[in-house]
Amino acid sequence: MARMSAWASAQHQLAEAVRQLGLDDGFHELLRTPRREMAVAVPLRHDDGHVEVLRGYRVQHNLTRGPAKGGVRFHPATDLDEVRALAMWMTWKCALIGVPYGGAKGGVAVDPKALSRNELERVTRRYVSEIIPIIGPERDVPAPDVGTDEQTMAWMMDTYSIHSGYTVTGVVTGKPVSVGGSQGRGGATSRGVLYAAFSALRDAGVDPRGATVAVQGFGKVGGLAAQFLHDAGCTVVAVSDVGGGVYDGSGLDTAGLLRHVRSGAPTVVGYPGTDTISNEELLELDVDVLVPAALEGVLHEENADRVRARFVVEGANGPTTPDADEILADNGVLIVPDVLANSGGVAVSYFEWVQDMQAYFWSEDEVNNRLKRLMERAYGEVSALASERKVSMRTAAQMIGVGRVAEAHRTRGLYP
Ligand code: NAD
Repeated sequence: MARMSAWASAQHQLAEAVRQLGLDDGFHELLRTPRREMAVAVPLRHDDGHVEVLRGYRVQHNLTRGPAKGGVRFHPATDLDEVRALAMWMTWKCALIGVPYGGAKGGVAVDPKALSRNELERVTRRYVSEIIPIIGPERDVPAPDVGTDEQTMAWMMDTYSIHSGYTVTGVVTGKPVSVGGSQGRGGATSRGVLYAAFSALRDAGVDPRGATVAVQGFGKVGGLAAQFLHDAGCTVVAVSDVGGGVYDGSGLDTAGLLRHVRSGAPTVVGYPGTDTISNEELLELDVDVLVPAALEGVLHEENADRVRARFVVEGANGPTTPDADEILADNGVLIVPDVLANSGGVAVSYFEWVQDMQAYFWSEDEVNNRLKRLMERAYGEVSALASERKVSMRTAAQMIGVGRVAEAHRTRGLYP
């Protein structure tokens, strides 16, 4: 049986929120339909001179609460439907945490690991040049996602600025600090995952210190989430990446693993003193907290029943399909949903954009304190609504996000 796609999952979740909120069909249609979609050809001249034409996308799902905001993904499997789903989730996430943005996402169907640094720079600059008509600090502000990083953002900012004739730092977030990035942005999503996990554990009366954790995905989000959870007293027993996973029941050396991958190791697999496990095995480990921090749809109807974690804290966007949601809920697993658990990234992206627009920069402590306050408030709102309406944390989070966007539509009115 074909698994539900990210776009189908996003639609399914929206339909449930719309039903709970009692919105009519017209509103549902308005909220479901992406406002603007751009598909572009991205011709790349490889280092050996041959030309390959890649596909690139930028989808602005909703612009009613402010400029669009969302990452850019470089991944071979990226397509328009995936980008649509990720854009829709950004809309609800921004509304949920109360930052004045709509939702967007972009992507190029390419494997960044197969390209040289020069090729990667050319892809990035051409992709940005193609989407320039619809981006800008007041229109749509990209950020890093899977397969892109601070350097990608620096090239994007530079390309946009060269076209504008002056430096426009606020066109992207997640930039290096040397070119208008914010202190604390690099670790923001992971720090948010830590707050979300600790709030869930404490709510359930579980002492987070000593809790066992498995993290799927050891990239920007998963790598630092593992580190922060370790630093906060959890025992991180397993982590993985696209090459597979490593396990140590007495706790992994997360700092050593980070150094290992940052120094260029292609995978965590083979790290000294660890046992090798598969990604499938990692998802089914008997741990307190499972943090999926790689791609969509990894918890689905075929493996959800085998998940033994008590808490799933979604570092990734869309890691759990609606079928798996039901199975996990029946098994008493608490899911802290993506739009809440990984919202630390867009929260600090917002802080970065505010700092860029004011050309006045904050200390890391100020950024981290504001992030903590924002996430704890959002967590409290979601958890209160979930109890009041007897719905899952996911449905409650979506209801708050969708409800705020619907309210903004209602207040602005429908033109003409
Ligand atoms: P990344 O490219 O830095 O890291 C991705 C990690 O996932 C890598 O370790 C990679 O090896 C691993 N991976 C890829 N395919 C895999 C597979 N099939 N099985 C297991 N592991 C696999 O990306 P990231 O920025 O850390 O993003 C991870 C997730 O977090 C995505 O869902 C992204 O949308 C979401 N997210 C990212 C941010 C952010 O600020 N970067 C913010 C919110 C949400």
